[in-house]
Amino acid sequence: MNDGETDGQTIEGNLISVAVGRPVPEPFTYRVPPELGCIPEPGRRLVVPFGRATAVGFSLGPASGPAPKGLRDIRQILDDAPLFDAPLLRLLLWAAGYYRFPPGEVLRAALPPGLTGCLTPSGAPPRHAIQTWLALTDAGRNAQVRGPRMKAVLEYLNARSEPEVPLDELLAAMPSCRPAVARLEEQGFCRVWTAARAREPADASLTGKAPLSPTPEQAQALTAIRQAIDERKFAPFLLHGVTGSGKTEVYLRAIERCLDLGLGALVLVPEISLTPQLVGRFRARFGEKVALLHSGLKDSERLSEWRRLKNGEAPLAVGVRSAIFAPVRSPGLIVVDEEHDGSFKQEDGFRYSARDLAVVRAQQQGCPVLLGSATPSLETLWNAQSGRYRTLRLSRRIDDRPMPTVRLVDLKQTKGHLAAAFPQLAGKMRLMAAESARMSQEGAEAPEETAIYDADFRRGSFQRAASSLSSFQRPRRTDDRPLADAPLISPELADAIQRTLDRGRQTILFLNRRGTTTFHLCLDCGQPLRCPDCAVSLTLHHPRGELLCHYCGRNIPLPSRCPTCGGRIERLGMGTEQAEQELSKLFPSARIDRLDRDSAGRPEDLTRRLSSFARGEKDILIGTQMVAKGHDFPGVLLVGVLLADLALNLPDFRAAERTFQLVTQVAGRAGRGTEPGEVIVQTFDPSAPAVARVVGHDFDAFAEGELQLRRRACFPPFCRLISCRIEGPDGARTEAAARQTASAAAAAIRASGQPIRLLGPAPAPLSRLKGQERWQFLLKGPTAKSLVPVASAVERAAASLKGGVRVSLDVDPLSML
Ligand code: ADP
Ligand code: ZN
Repeated sequence: MNDGETDGQTIEGNLISVAVGRPVPEPFTYRVPPELGCIPEPGRRLVVPFGRATAVGFSLGPASGPAPKGLRDIRQILDDAPLFDAPLLRLLLWAAGYYRFPPGEVLRAALPPGLTGCLTPSGAPPRHAIQTWLALTDAGRNAQVRGPRMKAVLEYLNARSEPEVPLDELLAAMPSCRPAVARLEEQGFCRVWTAARAREPADASLTGKAPLSPTPEQAQALTAIRQAIDERKFAPFLLHGVTGSGKTEVYLRAIERCLDLGLGALVLVPEISLTPQLVGRFRARFGEKVALLHSGLKDSERLSEWRRLKNGEAPLAVGVRSAIFAPVRSPGLIVVDEEHDGSFKQEDGFRYSARDLAVVRAQQQGCPVLLGSATPSLETLWNAQSGRYRTLRLSRRIDDRPMPTVRLVDLKQTKGHLAAAFPQLAGKMRLMAAESARMSQEGAEAPEETAIYDADFRRGSFQRAASSLSSFQRPRRTDDRPLADAPLISPELADAIQRTLDRGRQTILFLNRRGTTTFHLCLDCGQPLRCPDCAVSLTLHHPRGELLCHYCGRNIPLPSRCPTCGGRIERLGMGTEQAEQELSKLFPSARIDRLDRDSAGRPEDLTRRLSSFARGEKDILIGTQMVAKGHDFPGVLLVGVLLADLALNLPDFRAAERTFQLVTQVAGRAGRGTEPGEVIVQTFDPSAPAVARVVGHDFDAFAEGELQLRRRACFPPFCRLISCRIEGPDGARTEAAARQTASAAAAAIRASGQPIRLLGPAPAPLSRLKGQERWQFLLKGPTAKSLVPVASAVERAAASLKGGVRVSLDVDPLSML
C-alpha cells in the first residue's frame, strides 16, 4: 500500500466526493484522513493524489455509497472557507452536466486566474484604507488636450458626476492611463492626492445631477421588476426596448432597489471594453459598490475585484460573459444587457451560454432575471411569446427623437453603373457557382422526416439533388481567386457621402466580413442556392469542386447558371481594406479611418480611435461590427451598410436573424445628435426580410416571419441542437472518425426511439482551420433531455478514437461555422 491507498473496505463517514481539476467526466471519491479533521464543506479546494501526480480538486461534500477500490487519501485542504456558496456551486455543477464539460475544470474556470495557493476569503487584505484620488479642476472641465489617453481620462472624469474619483477606479477602466494622469496634473487640469477613504459611495441625490424621473413606460417596467425583487422569487423578464429607450436607466433603478434591501446584483454586458460610458454610469450611481470584471484586467486586478465581491464589500458585479460566475452575495437581480449578443457564448473549451446560465442562476438563487435588447434573440422572444418570460416594452426613445430613415439600394440595379464607372473591372467578373443560400422569405420546404446518415442516403440525396437541378449545365473549370476589387460604393451611397461631407458631418460605413471574404450570387435575381433539406446555404467545396451542404452533407455539381432565373452567377470578394482604398479614390480629401480586427490592435487602441472619431477628427469611419457597438456618435448623420448579403449568406440558419440585428444596430448609430439620421443599406436582395424589415424598423414582423421559417424547417427555438465537431491533423482519419462517431450516434438514436435527427457528417464550413481538418454533424431533438443519451454515445465512441482526432460537443451551438 502506498501513500494513503486503502484496499476497498467501506469506511463510513469520512469519504468525500471531489471534482478534480482534470479532464475527467465524473467526480472521484477520496478519504479524508483523520488528521485533517472533519470533511471539508463543498466548495473548498483540496490537493489530492491523481495518477502518479497530485491535482487540485474541489470538495463536493460527503460521498455516498461504498468506497471504491484503490481509495486514496486527500493530501491537503487549501481554503479555510468555501470559494463558492451553495447556489453558485449548484449552478456550476448543473452547467458541467448540461454542457458536458468536466466538473473540476468548470469550477476552476469560474475562479479568477490569479487565484493560486491558499485563499482565506475572510482574511483578504482590507482594500486600501488610504488611496489616491483625483478630481478635475475648473480648467480641466473644458480643457482641450492633445493626447488620446489624456482625452480619454478627461472624458471619463466628466462622465463621472462626482467631484472625486479614486485612481484605482480609473485604472480599472483604463489600465494604462497613469502617465496621462500625471501629465494632466502637470498642466493643471486635474488634482491628485492621497487620503483615507472619507466618503460613502455615491448617492444620486448628492451628485449634482438631478435624478431622472422615469417615463411612464419605464415606471411600468420598474413596478413589475421591483415587485419580483421584493418577493425574492425567480421571475424572468424580457426588457424589449429600442436603443435610447432608457433600458440602462431601468437596470440602474432596479439595482438600487436590490442594494436598498441589502441584496446584491449581477449585470452582464457584451465586451465592456467598448463601452466606458456604460461603466461610467454604473460608477456614477453606485461608486465603489461596483466590481468590474472584464478581459482587460490584469490577473491581480481581477482577483481583487473577485475578493471584494466574495467578502461582500462590493455587492454589485458588472462584467462580460465569465462574470456569470462572479461570487455576488445573495443576488436580488441578474441583468443581461444586449442579451442577443453572440459574445455571451463561449466558443471553445467550456462552451456555455452566459445568457442562458443567467436564467438558470436566477432560478437557483430565487431572483428575477432581466434580459434586455432592442432585437431580442428568437429563443428569448419565443420564451416570451409562449408565456415563460414576461415582456416589458419600452417602445419610444426617451426624447421622442425619430428613428433614422433607412433606404435600400439594390445592387443588381446599380451593377450597370458600376460596370460603366469601372470598365476595367467588368472584364474581371466571371461565371462561378453560387456559394451560399439563405432561408428565403417564400419559405423553406419542410425537411424530410429523417436524415440519418448512411451510404444509401448519401447516394440517394446526391441523385435527387442532381436531378432536381438537372437544368444546370455541366460545371466548368473555375478559378477560385476572389474578385478582390469589386467596387462597392453605389452612386446613391457616393452621393449621400458627398452630401454629408459637404455639411461637415460624419459617415460610418459597415462591412461585415466575418468568416468569409468571398461569396457567390446571381447578379440578376439575387437568389442563391440553398439545401432543399436544411434550408441553409450551400458552399463551394474546393477539393471536389462541388456545392456542399455543411449540415447534412448533400452535394450538388457546380451550376454555371442561376437555378431560379438562369442568370449569371458571379463571385465577389472584398474586405474593409479594399473598400477603404475605393473610398479614398472617390473622396480624396476626406479623412478616413478603418477599424477591424487587423487594424484595431489592443482594446485601448480601439477605444481611443472610436473616441477620436466621436470627437469629429475623422469624416468617415469604415469597419466591421466593431463600429456597430457602444459609443454615441452625435456627429454621424449617415450610416452605410456596404453589403448586407455578406452576413445574410453565411451557411447558418441564424444568418437572417444576425443580419437584422447587425443592420439595426449599425443603423442605430445614425442621427443620435439633434439632426435626423440617414441609413443606406446596399444589398443584392432587397426583398429579404432581414433587410427589408429594417426599413420600417419592424422587428415584430421580421421575427414573426423568421419564427415561422424556423418552425417549418425545425430549427431552434423549435428544437434543441447539439453540434459535434471532429478535428484532426489528417483529412482521411478525421473523416473516418466523423463517420464512426456519427454512426454511433445513429445507433443510439434508433435505440432511444425518440424523434431525433442526425444531420451529416459533413466537412465544416471552415473545413480547415489552424492546420486541423474539421468535420461536423448535428443532432436535432425535441428537447435537451432527449439528446442526452445520444451525446453520451458519441462521447463513448470518441474516447476510442486514435490519430490525434478530437471530438467536441457544443450544446445549444451558436456558431455553425
Ligand atoms: P438604452 O439603454 O435603452 O439605450 P439609456 O438608458 O442609455 O437607453 O437612455 C438613453 C438616454 O436617455 C441616456 O442619456 C439616459 O440618461 C436618458 N434617460 C433615460 N431615462 C430617462 C428619463 N426617465 N428621463 C430623462 N432622460 C432619460
Ligand atoms: Zn442539407
